[in-house]
Amino acid sequence: MTTPGPTLVLASPCCGHLHSRQTFKSVNAGVEILWSDGKLDARLLPELPKIARCSGCSRLFWVDDAAEVGRIDDPFYRSIRGEPPQDVAPEWKRAPSIRAPDTDVLAEAITDPCCAARERRRHVRIALWHSLNQPRRKLPGHPQWEKFWKPYWEHYGAEFEQRYGALFAPNLEALLEFFEEADPDDRLQKAEALRELGRFEACIRLLDSGFDESLGFYAGQIRQRALARDDAVFRLDWPPQEYADPPQCQGAARQIH
Ligand SMILES: [Zn+2]
Repeated sequence: MTTPGPTLVLASPCCGHLHSRQTFKSVNAGVEILWSDGKLDARLLPELPKIARCSGCSRLFWVDDAAEVGRIDDPFYRSIRGEPPQDVAPEWKRAPSIRAPDTDVLAEAITDPCCAARERRRHVRIALWHSLNQPRRKLPGHPQWEKFWKPYWEHYGAEFEQRYGALFAPNLEALLEFFEEADPDDRLQKAEALRELGRFEACIRLLDSGFDESLGFYAGQIRQRALARDDAVFRLDWPPQEYADPPQCQGAARQIH
């Protein structure tokens, strides 16, 4: 069960504008789809964005850099604990909640000073990769995709590609250096990035460097696509039950645009 924690009231580091952010004591999300670029689609997965646009001054800020001003307890949990209702300042109640970054925010974030640290740069480039792949995700036969996402991207796909398409390859090229080949999860992600860049031989060379059984299950699927010279993001098959953990995925902060 997903259990809410208190709502944090945060002051943005740029201008001190107040924002709110829901926290969770526990999260139980049902992972539905794992994509080859590492994005996870899951039910009930709360959005925990790391980068946001300030509602006060429109600049970007790294959410962990915002100072905590206070906490608003969940009223339901206060009542079951027998505590009186919390006296919440009106400006706390008015504080807009921090939203998941859209493609514009991510495209700006890759060069923004607040994301200068290597780990942050890596995070936003992976998030941008996932975001730019949105129109390319196809799930033939999946009821929700057929009913909603397919017509949505048939309508907006060309406009999206025109606006953001040129970012795709340079972003992936820049991302390559962030993947450490000594780390098997990184190696798999790097191979996928190379495949999506159309560099199939380099992708296959990396995939042939050896993975354990669990990651090898995913590596085999990516290899098959690379051999077919197919550069599109695709839905990965789940491994047999005995391999519990999917590869390290940065889909956790759900990005639905
Ligand atoms: Zn600001």
